[in-house]
Amino acid sequence: MSNPADGHCHDAVIVGAGFGGMGAAIELHRQGYDDLVILEREDDLGGTWHVNRYPGLAVDIPSSTYSYSFEPNPHWSRLFAPGAELKRYAEHVADKYDLRRHMRFGAVVEEARWDEENSAWEVRIEGGEVVRGRFLLTATGFLSQPRLPDIAGIEDFRGTVIHTTRWDDDVELAGRRVGIIGTGATAVQLIPELAKVADHLTVYQRTPIYVSPKLDGPVPAIVRRAFAKVPLTQRAARLVRTSILEVMMVAGVLHFRDLPWANAVGKRVCEAHLRRQVEDPQLRARLTPDYDFGCKRPTFSNDYYPTFAKPHVDLETTGIDHVDAQGIVTADGNRVDLDVLVLATGFNLWEANFPAIRIVGREGRDLGKWWRDNRFCAYEGITIPRFPNLFSLNSPYSYSGLSYFTTIETQMAHLGRVLAAMRERSADVVEVTEEANDRFLDRMTGLLDNSVFNAGSCATARSYYFNQHGEAVLLRPTSTLSAAREATRFPLDDYTFTAARVSASA
Ligand code: NAP
Repeated sequence: MSNPADGHCHDAVIVGAGFGGMGAAIELHRQGYDDLVILEREDDLGGTWHVNRYPGLAVDIPSSTYSYSFEPNPHWSRLFAPGAELKRYAEHVADKYDLRRHMRFGAVVEEARWDEENSAWEVRIEGGEVVRGRFLLTATGFLSQPRLPDIAGIEDFRGTVIHTTRWDDDVELAGRRVGIIGTGATAVQLIPELAKVADHLTVYQRTPIYVSPKLDGPVPAIVRRAFAKVPLTQRAARLVRTSILEVMMVAGVLHFRDLPWANAVGKRVCEAHLRRQVEDPQLRARLTPDYDFGCKRPTFSNDYYPTFAKPHVDLETTGIDHVDAQGIVTADGNRVDLDVLVLATGFNLWEANFPAIRIVGREGRDLGKWWRDNRFCAYEGITIPRFPNLFSLNSPYSYSGLSYFTTIETQMAHLGRVLAAMRERSADVVEVTEEANDRFLDRMTGLLDNSVFNAGSCATARSYYFNQHGEAVLLRPTSTLSAAREATRFPLDDYTFTAARVSASA
């Protein structure tokens, strides 16, 4: 790679201006690093909450848990806030923590390469420009590479095709025949909205999803005022809701083998919800998952199931054979003509997103290739051997708990501790050891055996939690408390600390 014209080396290059990247920048500021550049491929900040704008978008866990704990937002209008409020919260954080000055939009990173000689990362942006940084922090999100379904003939469709991450409000839906492929968490939010305007809606479901009742509603003004004036009240509300999510995750999913009844409770709650909302037993059967609760992320909705009772909405569960110019033909030869085809087909995680950009470390180790050829692992979900000064925030075993902010703050703590240790040792380069990485992987693999992913029945779930080797290595199989504790107590000997171009282990 060619060096930047001015040879300047930033303290850190951060890839991604969503909540993960902004959290990393806040932690770097706290540690005294101010020369940062945040490269963002989109034209604004906010990550998921900038990209996703489809009708019905809302946070899918209680809002009180979905913010930085050090920057609570007392203004959420609902218990599950709409997406636009999340975007505004991201803008507020960027302003308050003075992050905008570091951000460059429309900067599509193609590759990052460790420059051994200069102990720095060289990051190449589309168009050829190279920026350099002592540290590289990748915060490209887990759900950021849209998956376009591999369905024959889709390119022949003469109507409008739209993926949920590229929503276009100008596409006319009123009075049109709309088809939607997918019934994941995105579709569950979108389908009731489409049904409100479309002349006819056909939902193509391959795998049903567990849907639980949504305890949603407006947050009364008096409560919002109390949250703003006495932050302790909001902290208490957050603690209660975080604890509920934690129990669901730890007891119901991670301790499946020990506590099968806890998992069964989650399943029963969803099944009872379906029974209450759908009278027709045949329709109910088609909407009932045949895998264990928790194999894929369940979702919350009160208006998803009732949508299928509407006369202009059809649920199609026969597989799609092909798409042609007019619409969709299923395997039984049935054809449905469409004007608009919505792809709620999710994201490509394991081939296109681990990692989202090409990262080449020491001795030419290519991170994506290395993960795919070996096993997916990052020490404590953040660092990888042979990738010095890299903090990869969207790594295997990094996602802890149900609110992404739990993960972000755990990683901020880990990052802060490593950077402080480097300062104490006057080190320029830090790298996790292979032994520490292997030990962590062995521990996570062992813990997974207790989880629904290994001990349950997940074969038919088609869950994105599982990689191409059939391993569920996305979520960290420990409690969030344990993850947070480890972020401040992991053995510093698990890293080597060296001066630039001088080998001197601490
Ligand atoms: P997803 O859960 O991966 O669902 C994709 C859907 O598309 C699945 O139903 C899948 O069926 C179907 N599909 C994909 N390719 C297909 C094909 N070739 N033929 C037929 N069907 C196909 O993606 P998502 O709904 O976008 O949700 C992803 C995650 O985003 C969620 O789990 C959640 O964590 C997050 N999310 C968050 C929010 C929020 O906080 N507001 C909102 C929405 C989503 P199979 O299951 O059979 O593969």
